[in-house]
Amino acid sequence: MRKEDFEYLKREMIKDQIIKRGIKNESVLDALNCVPRHLFVREVDQHLAYHDYPLKIEEGQTISQPYIVAQMTEALDLNKGDKVLEIGTGSGYQTAILSHLVDEIYTIERIPYLHKKAKKLLTSLDYANITLLQKDGKEGYVEEAPYDKIIVTAASQSIPKDLLDQLQDGGKMVIPIGGDNLQKLLLLEKNHTKYKEKVLGYCRFVKLI
Ligand code: SAH
Repeated sequence: MRKEDFEYLKREMIKDQIIKRGIKNESVLDALNCVPRHLFVREVDQHLAYHDYPLKIEEGQTISQPYIVAQMTEALDLNKGDKVLEIGTGSGYQTAILSHLVDEIYTIERIPYLHKKAKKLLTSLDYANITLLQKDGKEGYVEEAPYDKIIVTAASQSIPKDLLDQLQDGGKMVIPIGGDNLQKLLLLEKNHTKYKEKVLGYCRFVKLI
């Protein structure tokens, strides 16, 4: 496929899957338009990169459906000066989207192969405001805490305590909570030791391991 074909598919994706389903934030739409999603999937799947579903990547993991990426990103209500922590780098696609919207991102991936691959790709695309770490994301990254926003892109039975602790007071976290097959996508807003919870919808993520 030619570059123009991918550009066309990307525009159609934004129109039919993202705007039609109610995503309005212009900066989120611009970010989706800037990131070449086909470079974040396996080469054999490049022609499917802009379709309305998640795709398998290496190591039994997935790259999220475009709409879910847009929905989670919009829900975080990002400001340029925000410091963001992402758990589950995977392909690095969600990380690249965040990179267009905020100044400083820390992203954690547990699987060494995926960490290395995402690092290489994001570097080759000149994303300079991302720090990639390879470790267990459930512990967060206390060295740079607190974070204004935290996004978790793997499903957990409960909210990891370390992540809540590392969220700024008034900060927001988006996280899928539930079992293997279906999870609630939650938006949390921290208020001292408590947090407000809103259900954004239902989703199906790979497990936080
Ligand atoms: N945001 C990704 C989605 C990746 S799927 C994308 O856009 O492609 C979820 C990822 O979370 C997988 O790569 C998986 O290896 C990773 N993961 C699972 N448990 C983890 C943990 N405890 N710490 C860090 N990463 C984890």
